[in-house]
Amino acid sequence: MNKQCQNCKVGFEIATDDLNFYSKISVPPPTFCWRCRMQRRDNWRNERSLYKRKCDAPGHSENVISVFSPDAPCIVYDQKYWWSDEWNSLAYGVPYDFSTPFFEQFKALLGKVPLPAVSSVNSVNSDYTNAAAENKNTYLSFAAGFNENVAYSNKIGYGKDSLDCYMATKLELCYENVNCHESYRLLWGVNSKNCRDSYFLYNCKNCSNCFGCANLISKSYHIWNQPYSKEEYTKQLASFDFVTREGIEAFKEKFQKEIVANAVHKYANILNSPHCTGDNINNSKNVHTSFDVLTGSEDSKFLQHCYEEKNGYDCMGAWKYELSYESVDVNIGSNNVATVITYNANANRYTLNCHGCNNIFGCIGLRNKEYCILNRQYSKEEYEKLVPQIVKQMNEMPYTSNTRQGTPKSFATGQASDKGIEYKYGEFFPPELSPWAYNETIAQEYFPLTEEEAKLKGFRWRKSEERHYNATLSGDTIPNQIKDAPDSIVNEVIECTHKGTCNEQCTTAFKIIEQELQLYRKLNLPLPNLCPNCRHYARLAQRNPLQLWKRKCMCAGKNSRSSNIEPRTVYANTAAHFHGTGECPNEFETSYAPERPEIIYCENCYQQEVV
Ligand SMILES: [Zn+2]
Ligand SMILES: [Zn+2]
Ligand SMILES: [Zn+2]
Ligand SMILES: [Zn+2]
Repeated sequence: MNKQCQNCKVGFEIATDDLNFYSKISVPPPTFCWRCRMQRRDNWRNERSLYKRKCDAPGHSENVISVFSPDAPCIVYDQKYWWSDEWNSLAYGVPYDFSTPFFEQFKALLGKVPLPAVSSVNSVNSDYTNAAAENKNTYLSFAAGFNENVAYSNKIGYGKDSLDCYMATKLELCYENVNCHESYRLLWGVNSKNCRDSYFLYNCKNCSNCFGCANLISKSYHIWNQPYSKEEYTKQLASFDFVTREGIEAFKEKFQKEIVANAVHKYANILNSPHCTGDNINNSKNVHTSFDVLTGSEDSKFLQHCYEEKNGYDCMGAWKYELSYESVDVNIGSNNVATVITYNANANRYTLNCHGCNNIFGCIGLRNKEYCILNRQYSKEEYEKLVPQIVKQMNEMPYTSNTRQGTPKSFATGQASDKGIEYKYGEFFPPELSPWAYNETIAQEYFPLTEEEAKLKGFRWRKSEERHYNATLSGDTIPNQIKDAPDSIVNEVIECTHKGTCNEQCTTAFKIIEQELQLYRKLNLPLPNLCPNCRHYARLAQRNPLQLWKRKCMCAGKNSRSSNIEPRTVYANTAAHFHGTGECPNEFETSYAPERPEIIYCENCYQQEVV
């Protein structure tokens, strides 16, 4: 089936398998293309924009750390009170109004039912975490679970004594890793697994004591991809400057220019995962058009950061869940946190922050309930009679998005169109209902926009606050080596070198915390001169976008074809390939755009080269 996206107006295809899935859960086929759907969901997840605001719980007046800004259009309770039995979410229930579109009614409810300040469950001494569970001594980390003594990390699980990692599991004593797993004392690693005591690795597996290497498997004592004796390696390493920021920057540049740029790249970072398309998929099977999928996901499509998700379509942050569609954060840890979903295996539809519920529709903040609509309790018979009537009404009286000032515009193209975007049954929540502005959410991380673009597309934008930190140290005045940093450095307010001029949620200033200082000392690393958000965006920039292009393997027999842009690198093969001396016929879907400079090989040719 071919359709035109209601949002970006680009054509997209719906496969037969997809139609089977939609009919299984009785939803119509989507009207947005998959990337517009992903962007729309991401606009409902604020991971890292934290504020101090008043707790709205009765009798409370203290400030709490919250993902909702003080002027957000919602009621916010501190976590402990929100999870207590002191208040009753059914008290906010209203009868369904068949003369008003469903989403208008949901929006009204969203302005009234209290929301938890942050989502961080079963954690100890981990106040500055969100979308998080089961952490200990973890600081400014998001989408994080089961970590101890971890800071400034994102999408991290089972980490220990590590800083500044992104998309990582089972790391210990690690720093600045992106897409790395099961490693010990790995620093500046990308797409690497099971490595130890190594610096600057790209696509390496089972390596130890390697420095500045790409595409190595089961090697040790290598520098810039060349083997050394243990003695020579140790001698060389001792002569390197890891202790100053300039020294590290120089290594980073050489590593990128001379090693990574000249390496052959696998079309996708898919490991031990048969029949999968997308990027960064580990130990899963039959998962398509998906990104950052961890162990045990199966038979799913359009996933983003999921773990053990089965039979799911369009899920962001689903953990150990089955049969869910258009969901954000379902079942984190053991707490069955269902944040935003249109459908899941428990037949919950259009819910927000509901836990342990079955058969609820359009509800917010319910716990262990059944047969509720707009937070109002019904009998099973009443519920089963009402829901089909509501579905029918949603189709006959759809909510229309973006009709402000009588000039409806498509929020993707900014073009005036005859009508706004229609939200019938099966459509995810419209962006303007989100309690967050676009640039507070992960949509800004994965689909970055300028303020102007976001507004043109109908997203809300939050002006970055004027921050008035009196920085006591600047990028030029912080000690250049950790040996010169006194214990009192934890009292200083350090100015971020970006000074808020970037589009990276820069906080303009930051502090060093005690556990961090101890780790820098242990690893003999210099202090950072960028704030945690700017460092996070620098790691994001090392990743490919959530996008796929159909491309052909660049292997041409003895060599690769030359890359598409200057300096037109050619990679010389080291082994004979299955296709002989002619061009490899294999095609694939890859997150490397056709105009990129890297040499991209299919699985088969890549495996021939990397042994
Ligand atoms: Zn689209
Ligand atoms: Zn900054
Ligand atoms: Zn090939
Ligand atoms: Zn080949």
